[in-house]
Amino acid sequence: MKHYRKELCVHLDSRRGFVNITPQVEKCLAESGIREGLLLVNPMHITASVFINDDEAGLHHDFEKWLEKLAPEHPHSAYRHNSFEDNADAHLKRTIMGREAVVAISGGKLDFGTWERIFYGEFDGKREKRVLVKIIGE
Ligand code: ZN
Repeated sequence: MKHYRKELCVHLDSRRGFVNITPQVEKCLAESGIREGLLLVNPMHITASVFINDDEAGLHHDFEKWLEKLAPEHPHSAYRHNSFEDNADAHLKRTIMGREAVVAISGGKLDFGTWERIFYGEFDGKREKRVLVKIIGE
């Protein structure tokens, strides 16, 4: 069995945002030379998500509004975690959007449904973040 590991770097100038990282992940898959197997992608941070959904700007706007309704950033004082930090909302948003994506690899390609793409979801940005890509197979 072959294995491959890489860390991608992500830096958003905004506190929140979604980035389609599918092209970078496909590059990792090509580098790995693995044709059949499984691919895992996860942020190495607890205030960011990796998830699979549609690359459609309206939907991303809807995610942002929905997450702000569930876990509004302000007031910071509404959260007990914020006696130490100011990012309680980011931890909660990340929990809702999930930690990782796992994708089957078939014939050297991500075995996606038609509209599936891999996104990085940032909820406490303005700094360097890392995303782990691990691939196993043959
Ligand atoms: Zn925190």
